[in-house]
Amino acid sequence: MVSLESPVSSLGKVAKGLSKRLSRLGIETCRDLLFYTPFRFEDYTNVIAIGDLKPGMQGSIHGQVQLINNRRSPRSKKTVTEMLIGDESGHVNVVWFNQPYLTKTLLVGDYVRLSGKTNDNYFSLQMVSPTYKKIAPGHESDPESLVPVYPTTEGLTQRQLQFLIHQAFQQCGGDIHEWIPEHILKKNSLMALPHSLEIIHAPVDLEKVTTARRRLSFEELLLVQLSQIYSKQQFASLHALTVPFDKEYVKNCIDSLSFELTEAQKTALWDLIKDMERSQPMNRLLEGDVGSGKTAVAAIAASTVMHAGYQVALLAPTEILARQHFLSWLKSYRVGSTYTVGLWTSGDCRLAVWNETTQEMEVKPIKRPQMLKEVGAGTVKMIIGTHALIQSSVIFAHLGLAVIDEQHRFGVTQRKLLKEKNKGSDMPHLLSMTATPIPRTLALTLYGDLDLSLIDQMPKGRKTIVTKVVPMRYRRWTYNFVREHIAKGEQMFVICPLIDPSDVLGVTSVKEEYDKLRQNIFPDLRLEVMHGKLGPKEKEDIMMRMQKGEIDVLISTSVVEVGVDVPNATLMMIEGAERFGLSQLHQFRGRVGRSDKQSYCFLLASTQEKEEVSRLRALVESNNGFELAEKDLQIRGMGDLYGKRQSGLPPLSHDALSDHFLIKASRDTASEIMSDINKYPEIKKRLIAFQQTVHFE
Ligand code: ADP
Ligand code: MG
Repeated sequence: MVSLESPVSSLGKVAKGLSKRLSRLGIETCRDLLFYTPFRFEDYTNVIAIGDLKPGMQGSIHGQVQLINNRRSPRSKKTVTEMLIGDESGHVNVVWFNQPYLTKTLLVGDYVRLSGKTNDNYFSLQMVSPTYKKIAPGHESDPESLVPVYPTTEGLTQRQLQFLIHQAFQQCGGDIHEWIPEHILKKNSLMALPHSLEIIHAPVDLEKVTTARRRLSFEELLLVQLSQIYSKQQFASLHALTVPFDKEYVKNCIDSLSFELTEAQKTALWDLIKDMERSQPMNRLLEGDVGSGKTAVAAIAASTVMHAGYQVALLAPTEILARQHFLSWLKSYRVGSTYTVGLWTSGDCRLAVWNETTQEMEVKPIKRPQMLKEVGAGTVKMIIGTHALIQSSVIFAHLGLAVIDEQHRFGVTQRKLLKEKNKGSDMPHLLSMTATPIPRTLALTLYGDLDLSLIDQMPKGRKTIVTKVVPMRYRRWTYNFVREHIAKGEQMFVICPLIDPSDVLGVTSVKEEYDKLRQNIFPDLRLEVMHGKLGPKEKEDIMMRMQKGEIDVLISTSVVEVGVDVPNATLMMIEGAERFGLSQLHQFRGRVGRSDKQSYCFLLASTQEKEEVSRLRALVESNNGFELAEKDLQIRGMGDLYGKRQSGLPPLSHDALSDHFLIKASRDTASEIMSDINKYPEIKKRLIAFQQTVHFE
């Protein structure tokens, strides 16, 4: 008897032969097969996954435009439109000739279907002059005639997948039962599960498909949110060291800062203080624009923990940022405290110790074993290092607080590791900080297991960065303008988008820009380049030289290190600005404006398109990352809002995330259920199974 939990191989010979490949798709059991949903529906019979394209192939592909440009072919004088299109399986280059208007019709981010032939060259595979069909947002998978198309893998065809799913249906489709209670289905107008699956795999009409997908999206969202509430409850059952609120001490800390905290900072600090007073571990995300003063808040929280007699770990994503935190702690955030502080990176191991005679913190190198010993003994009160620190053999005497910079969440696995860093069994309080502005609605879904504090206000007196959208004819003027500032010793970042489809790392664009600037514009200045092909060490080295003022102009792809402080960099030029999302542009802009000098950000569009350029004006008008993120969300949808850097996202499909009503409905349902989970044994079973199979951290 084949059941839902039987391995796929039990379906028969074909399945047996393909089980290895199925497993690559995460399909192990018959249930997995039934829940393996199509990512679109197609009318074409020979749709080819882009990654499977071979030279000389005729067929249809379907994907998202990643890049599109026109260029003049020097030989033939024709306009060549080049496009890079991608799907889950890969990307491919597409060209058209003498159809320059295509760049107006097909925009980056659009979904299109292409039908045509690939060229004969294996080394630069292209699809040449295909017919195309643009797909309106939200209709990526609207079919003409409905054939489900599943994400697949090498050596596994759509037909085989369809066949196997059909088999699974016949053998154990009847075992699929509804697990969401009737009243919840009714309340949210949801189709029953067995019917939804049937429709997804054997679609008849579009409207039904939409309803079925909505049901499956709801299920996805519900499980993720149940699971987040559940881990939140579990985390709360751990024990943490309590940090008593010493009003006088906190007041002294605040007073010893060289500035006054903003209201938003005070509120956030108060959140932290209240959390840490409890014997349940804090798990909080502190969100705020670059420069909004998150570190300052974390520093006071850290001081109160040390004041209570416990230790603190401050973890940064890169060594350079760790070093920066160490130095700024000594310089600005120590708030009068004299606790011993250690720096621990692969290249650097140092200790800062209070010297009674000089009344200063004295920094000296220290051997690693010695550092380990002192951390273990509790004499080192705070250790600053990279995220890798928790993977090391460090054991703390009593770690009270871990601050994690530039990370959205710390996963269950990482949390477990962190707990094991303590000699006792206490879980440290956990504070994550991020400069990625995530609108609250979305944050609640993505990070429902975290508490959230927003710093949505900039310190007073901060000069706003002057932002300008620069039309072509003002380019000269702009170069002259920045030159004057560089002559005064200020520095500039130049950000380049990807321009060459064959060059996903952006090396070419940066090199071209470098050549242009070096030969024609700034031959006398010190220029340097940075792109995705450089190793972390090289990047760090360049950032270090930038910090020391040894580089005048740094030309970079979007890899420019987050969070690195170069106060002397007051100028930024963003080439091809229309190709970036508003949030991303705002993040770039945050690299400047980090001192009391006036900073400037020039957005250079490589198009004259009114619409594109007017979208950029949002950046001139707003300096608020949350506002811009909301705007981006409206314009572009969740899609690629935060790019690839986004780590630890729950496994939610695009479908699920783009339906705001459904998100809200599922969240309400999840909290209703979790307020008394024992009333829903069926759901509890599902939830536990889900938590065991999914590791989205
Ligand atoms: P973030 O970590 O959010 O990027 P930081 O805490 O590093 O921001 O603060 C950025 C800069 O602003 C630092 O130089 C810091 O000393 C300063 N700063 C922080 N809070 C305030 C404030 N309330 N008023 C004035 N300056 C502040
Ligand atoms: Mg920071």
